[in-house]
Amino acid sequence: MAKTRGSVCRLCRREGLKLFLKGTRCYTEKCAIERRNFAPGQHGKRRVKLQGYGVQLREKQKVKRLYRVLEKQFRRAFQEASRKKGVTGELLLVNLERRLDNVVYRLGFASSRAQARQLVAHGHVRVGGRRVDVPSYLVRPGQVITLRPKLEKHDAVLASFEQARARGFPQWLAVDAAQIKGTVASLPRREECRSRNS
Ligand code: SF4
Repeated sequence: MAKTRGSVCRLCRREGLKLFLKGTRCYTEKCAIERRNFAPGQHGKRRVKLQGYGVQLREKQKVKRLYRVLEKQFRRAFQEASRKKGVTGELLLVNLERRLDNVVYRLGFASSRAQARQLVAHGHVRVGGRRVDVPSYLVRPGQVITLRPKLEKHDAVLASFEQARARGFPQWLAVDAAQIKGTVASLPRREECRSRNS
């Protein structure tokens, strides 16, 4: 996986909104957006009025950075969405939301999408009881997402899970808090994707 060089908080400052890339820190007053809500760099405080292509580019970058996907992956996701019947933008967001690394993050097994991706890639996640180590895997309604038994009682997992529970789980995921597992109850709706508080 390609890495962002330097602080990921710069990405949030560039987009002018919280992308929740750093886990717990994003919910504290240490968040860079809380302290310096202007674009990074020497001319960051200048006001630039975006138009046309500039607006479209920033919107694309926001989504790409929020879900932590590369340009190539994003383009492939767009092409897949554009081949299906319906509104391409909505289908694209729904498919990004259905990615296994995003679902692991939404279920609170990890405190950020980057951490969730690592959990998946390292083979700690089970879908319907079977190991799946592909972060871009798209979950389907009815599938049950769990962790390796060894990880279910891990302090970091329990802490992330409690924080996610306090924030509230998305309606399209049915969460069993006693057993740290989640079931995909339905496909996410457009308004449930990329919510501002997560
Ligand atoms: Fe940094 Fe998280 Fe705040 Fe973004 S939301 S600026 S990643 S602390």
